[in-house]
Amino acid sequence: MEIKRKKLVIGNWKMFKDAVQASADFENLSDSVTEKNLSIEVGIAAPSIFLADLARKTRNTVSLFAQNAHWAEEGAFTGEVSPTMLKSIHVLGSLVAHSERRQMFAETNQTAGGRISALLNLGMRAIYCVGETLVEREKGLLKEILISQLEQAFIATKIRNSQSFIGSDPNKPLLSIAYEPVWAIGTGKAASAVEAQEAHTIIRNFLQSYFGEELGNRFQILYGGSVKASNVNEYINCPNIDGALVGGASLVPKDFLELCMKCAN
Ligand code: PEP
Repeated sequence: MEIKRKKLVIGNWKMFKDAVQASADFENLSDSVTEKNLSIEVGIAAPSIFLADLARKTRNTVSLFAQNAHWAEEGAFTGEVSPTMLKSIHVLGSLVAHSERRQMFAETNQTAGGRISALLNLGMRAIYCVGETLVEREKGLLKEILISQLEQAFIATKIRNSQSFIGSDPNKPLLSIAYEPVWAIGTGKAASAVEAQEAHTIIRNFLQSYFGEELGNRFQILYGGSVKASNVNEYINCPNIDGALVGGASLVPKDFLELCMKCAN
């Protein structure tokens, strides 16, 4: 059964901007999104130090996400931020297991599962990032890698009620998947629409088999990897591509707005 999923475009600001710039850019983007009254959901995943300030500015036009969230409610975890803390300042959710965290900060599918369940248990959203390296792709391991990243993380959540992965708002499922081939992130070498679609179809088929067809069709699957205003059209109208996770091209509000407007058309 075909389900209409709301498009979601999230800008990942990574470790860029200072407080003044972040605040000004967020306000600028919020004003433009309000004025354009876009039919899609626009989000920003901001550095955690800016989230409290930005949360006061969202006016519910731009959805605010963290870039990482711990799996524990609280504890002796110096330097970490918990979902409970994020919720207390009205952050909606977090990216989980971005490839930069997998590569540089020892993120695994199991730790990712812990983060996903901590977020979902609080009714918060998790944008779970998966994707293969170039070596894995060249060895023909795309399907195997994607399925293991999804399956191992979902098992590690220990959540057995499939509905808990969706929540109650049909337009904003609690879990979304971002397919981000590692070789396409920050390299300027985006996956072709055919390559992206192949991966998204693998992910959709897995979601349908794991959660059942009806629920599996409700999750948004975003493409990420060198997406910009000039190439987003290639992806956004493909079946099973429900939006984008955007790094470099989200840093300048005017450029990001242009990209979002193309997704809303
Ligand atoms: C990202 O950081 O998730 C990303 C996709 O980056 P970029 O758009 O710069 O490739």
